[in-house]
Amino acid sequence: MKFSRFFKLLSIATLLAFVYLPGNAQKRNTKPNRYNKPTNIILLIGDGMGVTQVYSGLTVNHGQLNLNKFNSIGFSKTYSMSDYVTDSGAGATALSTGNKTYNGAIGVNKDTIPCKTILEYAEEMGLSTGLVSTNSITDATPASFIAHQKSRYNYEAIATDFVKTDIDVFIGGGRNNFTVRKDKRNLVQELRDKGYQVVYSMDSIKNIKQGKLAGLNVPEHNPGFIEGRGEMLPLAATTAINILSNNKKGFFLMIEGSQIDGGAHANNGEYVAREVIDFDRAIGKALEFAEKDGNTLVIVTADHETGGMAIMEGNYKNGTIIANFSTVNHTGVMVPVFAWGPGAKRFQGIQENTEIFDKMMSLLGLGTTLPGQIK
Ligand code: MG
Ligand code: ZN
Repeated sequence: MKFSRFFKLLSIATLLAFVYLPGNAQKRNTKPNRYNKPTNIILLIGDGMGVTQVYSGLTVNHGQLNLNKFNSIGFSKTYSMSDYVTDSGAGATALSTGNKTYNGAIGVNKDTIPCKTILEYAEEMGLSTGLVSTNSITDATPASFIAHQKSRYNYEAIATDFVKTDIDVFIGGGRNNFTVRKDKRNLVQELRDKGYQVVYSMDSIKNIKQGKLAGLNVPEHNPGFIEGRGEMLPLAATTAINILSNNKKGFFLMIEGSQIDGGAHANNGEYVAREVIDFDRAIGKALEFAEKDGNTLVIVTADHETGGMAIMEGNYKNGTIIANFSTVNHTGVMVPVFAWGPGAKRFQGIQENTEIFDKMMSLLGLGTTLPGQIK
């Protein structure tokens, strides 16, 4: 072999080594992810967030969203067992348990039998678990991941279900459901007895780095972003991720952008867009961690679309939209599924909302029983 040819081959080999050796050139993974299976899943649910809601946020934020970074994109069919148009209870229960159920159900199947949730499976397998919501933590979306109730309106019973579990972190509103109760129980004291740090302000919540945390920052729902919610959601996301990532076995975390739905129920385009942009900041926190960690799958989806929203006029430069709505209720249209990280490709295409549960379970290697099977 001629020397020049030898050196040419050597330089190609060096180049290939830099491109293919994980963590060499870019130093971003703790470990190379050989099997395309995540250790951690962060599931972000934008309540009421259809494609138009996403696009309103994208336009009002001048084309900049963390969602732009996702390259595995699919759709989810949201109909429930009882209705073509789902509600947040059935919508979240599909994602949390893999069961299509009736509207208003919380973690129970169509016969009101409790179904084990992905959070409960994760807990059982030694993973850390968490829930974050801008609404009350007892509201339908977070509740469906931890509680088992016939009706989403059984808020006090849902709060009691939190105390029955070993969830590591939950941050949101809804303090009154734990303290001001018909049965006179003080669930905050019961949580403290179980070893939880129970704190009431984002200033205290954000400083907690380990241990069990119940962050109940307001008595009911947090205000909307345009009503002054401030940094609550991104701070809660960061705090939860910091605490949960202490467990090397992995974690499951659900973060809800709850009030995209409310803005759309009110047929208020500006409200919707601001909620999407705020939710996207939490998505950014999840991605930031996932990029460094290398073993974290981030999924962003919705339980349903709200408002039958349409954008009639918009301006990227000024960040303005004119939105029309066709209803004050939810609609039956498919919602987007964005995925980033190990296993992300599995979420491409059109899927049932229940399949998102199946895929997450399989990727985390959870469930000795069949996914969605009644416990
Ligand atoms: Mg919700
Ligand atoms: Zn709604």
